[in-house]
Amino acid sequence: MIVCKFGGTSVASAEQIKKVANIVKSNPERKIIAVSAPGKRSGDDVKVTDLLIELADTALANGNIEEKIQAVVARYQAITDGLGLDLTMSGIITEDLRERVAADRSNTELFIDNIKASGEDNNAKLIASYFTSIGMPAKYVSPKDRLIVNDRPERTFAIREAYVNLNKLKDEKEIIIFPGFFGYTKEGILRTFDRGGSDITGSILASAVGADLYENFTDVDCVFAANPKIVNDPVDIKEITYREMRELSYAGFSVFHDEALMPVYKQGIPVNIKNTNNPSAPGTLILPTRSQSNRPVTGISADGGFAILYVSKYLMNREVGFGRKLLQIIEEENISYEHTPSGLDDISVIMRSDQLCKEKEARIIQRVKDELCADDVHFSHDLSMIVIVGEGMRHNTGLAARAASAISSTGANIEMINQGSSEVSLVFGVRSEFENQILKGLYQEFFATIPSL
Ligand code: ASP
Repeated sequence: MIVCKFGGTSVASAEQIKKVANIVKSNPERKIIAVSAPGKRSGDDVKVTDLLIELADTALANGNIEEKIQAVVARYQAITDGLGLDLTMSGIITEDLRERVAADRSNTELFIDNIKASGEDNNAKLIASYFTSIGMPAKYVSPKDRLIVNDRPERTFAIREAYVNLNKLKDEKEIIIFPGFFGYTKEGILRTFDRGGSDITGSILASAVGADLYENFTDVDCVFAANPKIVNDPVDIKEITYREMRELSYAGFSVFHDEALMPVYKQGIPVNIKNTNNPSAPGTLILPTRSQSNRPVTGISADGGFAILYVSKYLMNREVGFGRKLLQIIEEENISYEHTPSGLDDISVIMRSDQLCKEKEARIIQRVKDELCADDVHFSHDLSMIVIVGEGMRHNTGLAARAASAISSTGANIEMINQGSSEVSLVFGVRSEFENQILKGLYQEFFATIPSL
């Protein structure tokens, strides 16, 4: 059995949904389908999820919601008209949105989640009725009482019961159309995953039914070795391991959500990233292990928006508990950190800048000075992480030297190196202004000269 997930651009219009139907029809193994909300139809279009967030924000600000509701409804109406569906979709969706807008607002996060999730929910209903209308018996299945997630305030994830409940879907006769992006707590409260979270839903479904394959349909033929918006015509990746993919998606490879790997990884279910607009292309296979290639490096990614907290104190290396106390301060500010490179008298904590604000930074600096008697404490912003990934890296000498020299030839200073913590990656922290130049330089160094197998 194959579980498929179709992303936003794959279900953005009637024309795209017809392609989805053809793909599903062409292989009877494709039984369980997770769908996103309608995404962008062209570069300057707006995703339905973003329209829904605007609607929720407007409602919370007691603004005029009518226009916002109509913008969402118009997107679905265009789809139903194009599919020739005999449904008064506008009436049904308008009513559904009004109900969600009228819901309890005491917790704004949950209020917004409930509105956001309607994008996937209504699209799944619509796609199920379209499939049935063209002779492909299909059934919309709600995540309610099935895809059970944890309670707030932790980020949303599926709990064990979800997998037990969802396992029953494998016995259904019809094609299952399941909305991506959200689940319900045991108490029946709707919670969404992070943005792009329909990938996670697909992965949970694949794991729950023990699928042979999880096909993730998007709008590119494959995963590339570097961002094609920056590097000219990068090589495609035919096979990649879970570990490699996880490291690459950590820093900017947005083709597949990094949290979506865990459910399939645990069961060793292969993931095939494919293109709805070119389904015969083989795509990229994410596997537990892969065949050898003659390249030590599989891909290079880069992502901005990082900050470093520098702390130095003479004889820090002799002080028992210094690191723990520092990280406790970070924890008490509810910040998750990414790396903690350290020297004899220095330690840095690298984190995503979007978790910080001026007040938090001032509080952290003050506490580290007062409680840890540090000599110097300061934050530095506008950092990017450059991640070089490859299973073959640990068997190759001189890679770090080659990478460092490619970086230095751009004139950038290396602010941080993390090597050895992960067997499959090498991470460099650099100032963001050099990010693109470095990516091009590293690509040239590791990919331009060696032919692919
Ligand atoms: N529609 C949601 C988003 O735009 C989830 C998804 O498409 O995966 O983030």
